[in-house]
Amino acid sequence: MFKRLRKDFQLSIITLMGLIGVLGITPYAFYRLTHGNYLVGIADSIIVLSTILAVVYAWRSGDTVKPGIYLASIFSTGATLIAIDLGVNGLFWIYPLILFNFFMVSPGKAIAATLLILGSLVGYALWVPGSVFESDYQMVSFLVTNVTAGIMTFIFAYRTRSQRDQLQVLAIRDPLTGARNRRAMDEEMKIAVSSKRRHGTSYGVLAMDLDHFKQINDRFGHQAGDLVLIDFVELIQHSSRKEDRLFRFGGEEFLLLLPDTQLEGLQAAANNLLLQVRNALQGPGGTVTVSIGGAILRADEGQESWLQRADQCLYQAKSAGRDRFFIDEPVEAPLGSPTPTP
Ligand code: GH3
Ligand code: MG
Ligand code: MG
Repeated sequence: MFKRLRKDFQLSIITLMGLIGVLGITPYAFYRLTHGNYLVGIADSIIVLSTILAVVYAWRSGDTVKPGIYLASIFSTGATLIAIDLGVNGLFWIYPLILFNFFMVSPGKAIAATLLILGSLVGYALWVPGSVFESDYQMVSFLVTNVTAGIMTFIFAYRTRSQRDQLQVLAIRDPLTGARNRRAMDEEMKIAVSSKRRHGTSYGVLAMDLDHFKQINDRFGHQAGDLVLIDFVELIQHSSRKEDRLFRFGGEEFLLLLPDTQLEGLQAAANNLLLQVRNALQGPGGTVTVSIGGAILRADEGQESWLQRADQCLYQAKSAGRDRFFIDEPVEAPLGSPTPTP
């Protein structure tokens, strides 16, 4: 349980806010119900109950977006109604509510909620003069301080979010070529293996290694080699489908993961990429070629054996003279017979 809280920031925020909400509001709900203020008392009780439901839902489903939107809506509506009913004593709650919304939903949604809350309060106060605020001066002060708090929180939340997105990119991309890195590859291969087992989704993989790459470095320098790697990645990304994922998993070794791909599709893709590279990849000393080995994921195998089969084919392509591809042929099992064991 603590492990999940530590790993999933949004879930921990929803749990924490839920806890604070329940502990903070329950006494008020009791107080108001026992003192005859039923409208606010019932509103408080609904907030408490639906908070508990939303937190339970987030824990069960792993979805934190919907509970976040739900909690932000219910707290905002509740606090606005309470402020309208209680006047100044209720207005103080609007300040933490603004912060709360920024924790629950995206910065854009949160600032929209802030404007909606402030608009409703001021609108109601203008409609029923003398309600909510004690004077016009108070209303303007309230509005200005809240808008200021809202804008500052928006800037903070927006910055945090874009930095988090940047970090996520840095964590999965190779800085030289922009291809996904090895860590991302491990994750995606694991997902592929379990998706094959559960849903039977077909996956192919192509292991690619540039031919005589060391010569480029030796003759023209490391930087020239780097440029070839960058061009190679751009070329492959242009020549493959957008669902295909390209990973750099060693110096000049790459891996392309192709979802929803059968044997014929994998052969066609390998052939196409091979020709594209041969025709369009220019190094400082002329054309650069690539050797490719491929394999279709079997239902009963794991990531390692799958990669190993592709790698063996790559090795075959190299020893047969490079600038060619080999795809591992699947073992055909007649219908109804048990899968042959290797
Ligand atoms: P083969 O056709 O058998 O694949 O020959 P090769 O020369 O490509 O074989 P090898 O795998 O031995 O050489 C790979 C070279 O790639 C060695 C290494 O110096 C170079 N290399 C690895 N990473 C980088 C990099 O990030 N930038 C550059 N410029 N070179 C790199
Ligand atoms: Mg090589
Ligand atoms: Mg190599």
